[in-house]
Amino acid sequence: MANKLIYFFGKSKTDGGGDMKALLGGKGANLAQMTKIGLPVPSGFTITTEVCVNYYKNGRKAPAELAVEMEKAIKWLEKEAGKKFGDVKNPLLVSVRSGARDSMPGMMDTILNLGLNDATCEGLAAATANPRFAWDSYRRFLQMYGDVVMGVQKKNENDHEPFEEVMDALKKEVGVKDDTEFSAANLQELVKRFKKLIKDWTGKAFPTDPVKQLEGAVFAVFSSWMNDRAILYRQKYRIPDEWGTAVNVQAMVFGNMGDDCATGVAFTRDPANGDNVFYGEYLVNAQGEDVVAGVRTPLTISEMAKDKIIGAAHKELNDVRKTLEKNFGDVQDFEFTIEKKKLYMLQTRNGKRTALAYVKIAHDMVKEKLMTPEHAIKSGDPEALNQLLQPIFDTTAYAAAAKEGRLMAVGLPAGPGAASGAVVFTAGKAEELAAKGQSVVLARIETSPEDLRGMIASDGILTARGGVSSHAALVARQMGKVCVAGAGDVEIDYHKGTLKCKGVTLKEGDFISINGTTGEVFHGKIATADSELKQVLVNKTMKPKDSKVFQYYDFLMKLADKYRTLGMRTNADQPDQVVNAIAFGAEGIGLCRTEHMFFEGDRIIAVRQMILAKAEEDRKKALATLLPYQQKDFEGIFRALNGLPGCIRLLDPPLHEFLPQHDNHKGQEEVAKQLKTTVAEVARLVSELHEFNPMLGFRGCRLGILRPEITEMQARAIFQAAAVVIKEGIKVKPEVMVPLVGFKKELDLQVEIVHRVAAEVMKATGKKFAYTVGTMIEVPRGALTADEIAESAEFFSFGTNDLTQTCLGMSRDDSGSFLPAYQNLEIIKANPFASIDRTGVGQLMKIGVDKGRSTKPDLKIGICGEHGGDPSSVEFCHIIGLDYVSCSPFRVPIARLAAAQAALRHPAKVVAPKVIKDSKAKTGATKSKTSRK
Ligand code: PEP
Ligand code: MG
Repeated sequence: MANKLIYFFGKSKTDGGGDMKALLGGKGANLAQMTKIGLPVPSGFTITTEVCVNYYKNGRKAPAELAVEMEKAIKWLEKEAGKKFGDVKNPLLVSVRSGARDSMPGMMDTILNLGLNDATCEGLAAATANPRFAWDSYRRFLQMYGDVVMGVQKKNENDHEPFEEVMDALKKEVGVKDDTEFSAANLQELVKRFKKLIKDWTGKAFPTDPVKQLEGAVFAVFSSWMNDRAILYRQKYRIPDEWGTAVNVQAMVFGNMGDDCATGVAFTRDPANGDNVFYGEYLVNAQGEDVVAGVRTPLTISEMAKDKIIGAAHKELNDVRKTLEKNFGDVQDFEFTIEKKKLYMLQTRNGKRTALAYVKIAHDMVKEKLMTPEHAIKSGDPEALNQLLQPIFDTTAYAAAAKEGRLMAVGLPAGPGAASGAVVFTAGKAEELAAKGQSVVLARIETSPEDLRGMIASDGILTARGGVSSHAALVARQMGKVCVAGAGDVEIDYHKGTLKCKGVTLKEGDFISINGTTGEVFHGKIATADSELKQVLVNKTMKPKDSKVFQYYDFLMKLADKYRTLGMRTNADQPDQVVNAIAFGAEGIGLCRTEHMFFEGDRIIAVRQMILAKAEEDRKKALATLLPYQQKDFEGIFRALNGLPGCIRLLDPPLHEFLPQHDNHKGQEEVAKQLKTTVAEVARLVSELHEFNPMLGFRGCRLGILRPEITEMQARAIFQAAAVVIKEGIKVKPEVMVPLVGFKKELDLQVEIVHRVAAEVMKATGKKFAYTVGTMIEVPRGALTADEIAESAEFFSFGTNDLTQTCLGMSRDDSGSFLPAYQNLEIIKANPFASIDRTGVGQLMKIGVDKGRSTKPDLKIGICGEHGGDPSSVEFCHIIGLDYVSCSPFRVPIARLAAAQAALRHPAKVVAPKVIKDSKAKTGATKSKTSRK
């Protein structure tokens, strides 16, 4: 490898920095940064992510120079620490930790106390005059090394950890409850048993040479990048496999040398609700893993101030808290160790937080000038904003549950919101029931990364052990799951499948309700109610001034609006949906699917009459019945829009969708009765309309071309509605959209009808109104001939649902049977119906934009497929220079934030339309698109 493999951080030199996360991983970069700003960080070095990438490229083989470079690095570290690796008198011990560019908490491996063997352990015992500590460190090392490097792990999720089993047996033999009660001799015995366990389990002896140990540990960390849970995590959070992980090797400091030692984790603010309080916990005489693993329930940071021995460190930590926020410009989640009363910083990273904490922290820290507005926008997960819409307990049902004495326990509020569902004790069961549509609450004594799938499937997570930094709390916070952690009174018995507390026993499948905002656990169901945000914006049952959550959210959204250049629209076909979408920030309708209106009330009868009609006259009669209904619908929509643009699509779906299918005899009987005809006639019609592939059949503009009276009726309804609403003094901006166009002529035929009807309506009503006619680009031919189509279109809107299915040749309805397997096989990275396939479909879009604007430089172009609410797709739309995205009302806030992030990531993206060589295209069209209007 040509590049530097290892970067150092320490007293004599630090050659990395906080801005080098891609190369050094988040942990490595921030260790370097903390060292640079003078915080007490034990010296160490970082093996770059490039080495990991190279390791995988070469079939899991490290570059030849790595061994030599590591040897040099260890020599340097020996000098820094004043200790020697493998020395029997004053041994240097190191920690080996993973560290990806984005933190992946608990997903990869860590090894502490590396460098110990029988001889160095004796040396450590003598050097510290603390044999108990030395043997405790040694047994921990064996445990981690045995697990991570040598694969001594439990085989089933309900098995006990093999090392824990050996430890529990010894506890019983010597009659102690906690491992802190073991004597040095007990621990020495435990070391012996652990070594035997490793030998019995793997057939190999534990390596005593520290250099070999280090080599094994580094490779194990590289390998952990590809373990199942890390892969799953990356899929969920869209972290590319290609990034790889760095490895940090750092001189050990010890929190387990006695009562003047401690270890802890802390957040500079509360990551659950965003409050500006010092939030964290620690354990006296323990090592870092004890806090995160949730095995012992730790003390809160504020309790440290009262500690007679290490109390002074509390003030120091408080200063560190301020320094970190000032330097890193965000809430930090950090790990520390106190060794003989001296504080050391072991890592810091931007704290993962709930959506509630995100909006509050962004609001507060921007106002306190500790965070830049850009960072406030960039650091959010748009998808997580959904959490703000998550239900809370219904006030009456909640009060009743309390009155009925159903409160069983109170744990730590680790993930806000309310969840009520069947209690399950294994991740597998959680997945199984959730797949059947059942709400579930996963209850575990403590969770571990193996529970990840079950945690994803559950509505809520409850643990009996562990604090606010335990695995359960950490993961729940990040996923936005409702979570109560460390409810100590709850007894969970995996083998019996029961959860007991205060005399109540719940079996698997019984209902349980948890409040992740207060930590309460109730037995039985409790009804849930809308979130505050919904109450303010949708139900309007709460005033903005009464909801802090709304105020924080609103601050952030307004900030996002300052940065985004994409316009925001919504897919809505009812006035109430439009009103909601506008409350969430929509600036118009991007897609009104008129066919949805055909199903309401009695109008379906007229629709069916229209389909059934053989003669044009009969069809016109049926359409005349439909017209007033459609007109009323559009009036409602225009009123709700109150002057904002409304893009209304002409009828699109295949006609058979309006009739009961051949296997629905009862339905057909009903239709026959409604239409005063025979069942046989209805059945005949159904089979006549039957298509082998309706998605590619008689639908879209093909309907309006062969049945022009349908287009005529819809256009008339739109324009008459416009005239009525204008009379009321309300502005209207109708945009008529023709679906599924692949040929210019198709559009021409429809545009002609729309223009004719518009002129007729204006004449008849005496009202003038502006309107536009455009088309959806949703079949590849439409994109490929966009320059021709643009001659007749006043706007384009990408229908990426159809464009994806036609570009990929994958049915949007049937692909569920193979897409998950395709994802597992990594044929595709993400579901292309959820997130734009940039290389395939995206290319068609790009061609569509370039060709369309080569004809009309100012052509307005949007997207109205479901992708319009997906953050990655929103980013892509920004990159290719669309004017707006359109998505369902409740996704508008997500799209708003995603659009702002895209604008910050791709600033002043000036997309000069390429002039595509084509005889018909008008050339010289190069006006840049930078504005969203
Ligand atoms: C599309 O195809 O992307 C689209 C918006 O239309 P529909 O989903 O109604 O086919
Ligand atoms: Mg479509």
